[in-house]
Amino acid sequence: MAHIVILGAGIGGMPAAYEMKDLCGPNDQVTVISDSPRFHFVPSNPWVAVNWRKRKDIELEIEPVLARKGIHAITQAAKRVHPEDNRIELLDGTMVDYDYLIIATGPKLAFDEVEGLGPNGFTHSVCHVSHAESTDWDGFTSEPGPIVVGAVQGASCFGPAYEFAMIMDTDLRRRKIRDKVPMTFVTSEPYIGHLGLGGVGDSKGLLESAMRDRHIKWICNAKTTKIEDGKMFVTEHDEDGNPKKEHELPFKYSMMLPAFKGVDAVFGIEGLTNPRGFITIDKHQRNAKYQNVFSVGVCVAIPPVEATPVPTGTPKTGYMIESMVTATVHNIRELMDGKQPTHEATWNTMCLADFGDTGACFVAVPQIPPRNVNWFGEGKWVHLAKVAFEKYFLRKMTKGVSEPFYEKMVMNALGIVKLKDKLTGK
Ligand SMILES: Cc1cc2nc3c(=O)[nH]c(=O)nc-3n(C[C@H](O)[C@H](O)[C@H](O)COP(=O)(O)OP(=O)(O)OC[C@H]3O[C@@H](n4cnc5c(N)ncnc54)[C@H](O)[C@@H]3O)c2cc1C
Repeated sequence: MAHIVILGAGIGGMPAAYEMKDLCGPNDQVTVISDSPRFHFVPSNPWVAVNWRKRKDIELEIEPVLARKGIHAITQAAKRVHPEDNRIELLDGTMVDYDYLIIATGPKLAFDEVEGLGPNGFTHSVCHVSHAESTDWDGFTSEPGPIVVGAVQGASCFGPAYEFAMIMDTDLRRRKIRDKVPMTFVTSEPYIGHLGLGGVGDSKGLLESAMRDRHIKWICNAKTTKIEDGKMFVTEHDEDGNPKKEHELPFKYSMMLPAFKGVDAVFGIEGLTNPRGFITIDKHQRNAKYQNVFSVGVCVAIPPVEATPVPTGTPKTGYMIESMVTATVHNIRELMDGKQPTHEATWNTMCLADFGDTGACFVAVPQIPPRNVNWFGEGKWVHLAKVAFEKYFLRKMTKGVSEPFYEKMVMNALGIVKLKDKLTGK
């Protein structure tokens, strides 16, 4: 009998639990450890921030849905992983032993790296649903003023910054107060649409055009040095990384995405994490030192796709994470059968970015360049598809299914698959 523990019940952890359970025998046990009793659909946080969704619309209780599938849930945070002993220490001191561990904790949000950044400082966040529901958007819209939105140096997840800028613009236009809100997009990316990915298709042209259409000014190669109440200090850099211009940006409302790092429960574990606390893995999603430990999602260490004048990281997006999950559970099954792991995730990506009334979709196969497929498109259909996907994903998590056969068929038909072909390696 094997005990497989999944640490984290987010976009990576929940599908990992269901897919792992499907591959287990009747005597094997799957346990999910989560610091929250609820799963949150993170991609909907920007809608929560402008009150287009309530928190309850995008979350579900994990214990009952996991129990229906025979998966055990512990709704308490892990204090520390002890990989040399194959155990996890919980906050109350309880130890949980495992045979195999899948680390899926997502990121720790590094607000502390910029003075005044984040909900304890002077800017809002959409990274967590608790942040998103406390942005007091209605208060702002009753006394509107300038908005500064974007992502700071070292950030890796840029899509939600663009989404939130466009969603706020749409909401303000609907309220007929957009004319009272000058908007500036501040980003560490070298150009609009870089996305931490070196761009995807014509993401630069398309996103610049969308920003121009919506009268959103931008500053790229930006290092946010300090934030005070109502004022952001930004140093713009040239392409060699030298300071070019200092900006003092007044704001009434600001949302800036932070850099990410690894969570405290794993930070600094020699051989398990890199200096930022991300889990180091091989092509089978497995840690080299602790060979029964795997990792999926934002907590995985991936180098930047290219050096940029101001540091940027590589995003880990939903479908890419799901491909990590599928490879991981099959590799653990192989280990349980006394074999060596052979499954490799494609890290292919298809991402829907909502602009409020329209949206942009990109397909990157694989996500890290150079790519076989590189496509970026825009249209009203993306907004509708994103709304549908939210409902679909929440329904899948409620039903305990990670990838129904029809989803697999559609994605295969589009040439977007999760696992590399073992013979060709493609
Ligand atoms: C605002 C936002 C919007 C996004 N939108 C999209 C999108 O539209 N499309 C897309 O493809 N990608 C999107 N992403 C990127 C990515 O898909 C999400 O970040 C996704 O949530 C990452 O999944 P994850 O499982 O790695 O982390 P999470 O979903 O964050 O899950 C990690 C879980 O682990 C828990 N945890 C952390 N530490 C501990 C601990 N010590 N003990 C127990 N549990 C712990 C956390 O509470 C959390 O529930 C978005 C990201 C953000 C921030």
